[in-house]
Amino acid sequence: MQSTHKSFCRNCTHSCGVVVTVENGRATTVKPDHDHPVTEGYFCIKARASLELHEGGDGRVTECLKRSGHDDWTRLDTSQALDEIGDRLKAIVEKHGPRSVAVYMGTGGFYNSLAHPLAKALLHEIGSPNFFSSASVDQSARWVSMMRMGFLASGKPNPADVDALMLVGANPLISHWLPAFNPAKRLREWSRKGTRTIVVDPRYTETAKLADLHLPLRPGEDVTLFAGLVRIVLENGWQDRDFCDRYAGRLEQLRTAVEPYTLDYVHRRTQVTPDKLVEAARIFACSGKSLLITGTGIAMAPRSNLAMHMADTLNALCGGWRRPGDWVSNPGVLLSRTFSDTVIAPSRPWESGIQCHSAPTGLVQGEMPTGALPDEILTPGENRIRALVVLGGNPLKALGQPEKTMRAFRELDLLVSLDPRMSDTSRLSHYVVPPPLPYERHDLNYVLDGIGWSTKPFLQYAEPITAPPPHVVDESRFFWHVAGRMGLQLEYRKIGLLGLYRDAAPGFPLDMTSPPHPEDLARWWVRDTPVDFDELRASPGGLLVDVPGQAVAASPDDGVRMDLCPDDIACELAQVHAEQPDTKGSYRLATRRIRETLNSMYRSTQAAERNFPVNPAFMNPDDMKDEGLQPGDRIVIASRHGSLQGTVREDRDLGRGTISMAQCFGESDLERDPDQRTGSFTGRLVSLEEDVEAINHMPVQTGIVVTISKSGLS
Ligand code: SF4
Repeated sequence: MQSTHKSFCRNCTHSCGVVVTVENGRATTVKPDHDHPVTEGYFCIKARASLELHEGGDGRVTECLKRSGHDDWTRLDTSQALDEIGDRLKAIVEKHGPRSVAVYMGTGGFYNSLAHPLAKALLHEIGSPNFFSSASVDQSARWVSMMRMGFLASGKPNPADVDALMLVGANPLISHWLPAFNPAKRLREWSRKGTRTIVVDPRYTETAKLADLHLPLRPGEDVTLFAGLVRIVLENGWQDRDFCDRYAGRLEQLRTAVEPYTLDYVHRRTQVTPDKLVEAARIFACSGKSLLITGTGIAMAPRSNLAMHMADTLNALCGGWRRPGDWVSNPGVLLSRTFSDTVIAPSRPWESGIQCHSAPTGLVQGEMPTGALPDEILTPGENRIRALVVLGGNPLKALGQPEKTMRAFRELDLLVSLDPRMSDTSRLSHYVVPPPLPYERHDLNYVLDGIGWSTKPFLQYAEPITAPPPHVVDESRFFWHVAGRMGLQLEYRKIGLLGLYRDAAPGFPLDMTSPPHPEDLARWWVRDTPVDFDELRASPGGLLVDVPGQAVAASPDDGVRMDLCPDDIACELAQVHAEQPDTKGSYRLATRRIRETLNSMYRSTQAAERNFPVNPAFMNPDDMKDEGLQPGDRIVIASRHGSLQGTVREDRDLGRGTISMAQCFGESDLERDPDQRTGSFTGRLVSLEEDVEAINHMPVQTGIVVTISKSGLS
């Protein structure tokens, strides 16, 4: 028997509309939904990969597992597993206090709209601030910059509405990030209407080939580039003076701080020619409305907090924020928002809030820095973490320096992974609890709600299309069961993407005598919105919602300004300028994304195995010639912190002096792949102790200085 069902992809923010065919209870094909009013028939290869996982790809786990010994797993009845986990958590809290428990949420958790608020609710009831996530590994420089500089409550403009767009460290044609919903089509459309696009990337990427200008930046030189561009804008008086007068402060301190970043100096460090630097600054500052979008490349590179601050400074100088009167056509359906030009003052919560116990820093955007997680486990003291629950993530792969993270995880009294796969982290866990997969669960497309690049108020509710295996455990039931066993009462709140429990409006207390039904949780989300839940449920392809647009309101000038150049930024700019050049003959590693995988997910799918049986070390052909290397040669790539084996592949689009490899690839445990034949894990080149960012403990994962040598292995 065959049937088709509308739903949406749960892999990333875009929530692309899909049509899934089910035959005899199995999801057999997934196609884009051409009637979907937002994504309009677009989707990417990862939507197909997700279906493979449903059919057992990537080694699906279908029953609760308990580890005894090194790699000895016992199947456990679900209730018994959850009882044991709840009892052990309770005992740990009673003995060591609330801060002994932590939750890490990975990419899989973020897109689970109904369950993830309960992870935050559980920590709240325990009284622990220890919420960590994958966002603090590749996004937190963004938050640091916002909280150090301040920002406008109006938000940034939709990229479709600007005249000049700069994309930095992002390759959306591969990652499918911004511009959303068919990036190639959007970039071509915007180009036809006159938008000028600049791409900053060490590679002449697929996206760069569609741009008006490509700046082939040497990996890790983002700070120098942006300081140089800021200097050019100020020197030529190209800044938006009205915007800066009203919303930005400390321009003179900024002017002084970037003064040493002359054209010659910036060219020498970044390898971008002076004419391209001036052209980029002119296009971005002088074309009309502008917007700078940063990807994970800049957030994972050296001095990422400073680089993000300087990128945001360039954006602010050129007025890259919505102004009074600008129209916001999608203010959101689920969470009401208002838009004004109020300047939200710098807040620096890491200086005054709850502190890490292993490092002089604290909460950023309500999260503890994931880069500090291993030390929060290993460092003795009363606030040491002893129990970790991992929701939809693989922190061992996300963090780098795997020996240290493995050592930390082995020190835990309790490690629980809610994961459908035996990931690197699952293998170290005491318990693995298998959740349903996306097409087996209820969900709302909450991540798309009111987000800047989606112009239509739209809501979609997904019901299960296929039945999950009998022993999988819905994540909402997991948190409910464990909390009940600990004697805690949970409250369910509407918490948006990156939202905080304490800031969310009061919710409703869960009935702790019977598990919450996901449909009831979805009803709660939709309550007090213009949407009738039953109508939404009867419309599996989603509903366009009649939410009035808003013009950005003008607020009275209260004197608050975005701080473009606080003292610590000026000081760090001087430090960067004084840095010594790399050792002769060294390279810089630039990590890249591949179309077939999503961080560490989908590595074992057919498409990934076929196209990337190894993790190639891409090199410029001229560098290969100089090194006497042929495609397929094995090389050792070494940083100050570690080394890995790579297989050379030619890439004519890569600048010289760069090695480019995919991240989150290969085995973190060398015992499982001593010759690194299943791929090379670039996290081996990373240190969680040196070269980490001061505020958010972000480890450097790209732009790392490396040397290469021929490997003895063929
Ligand atoms: S862009 Fe790709 S991964 Fe993201 S939601 Fe769409 S289909 Fe899924």
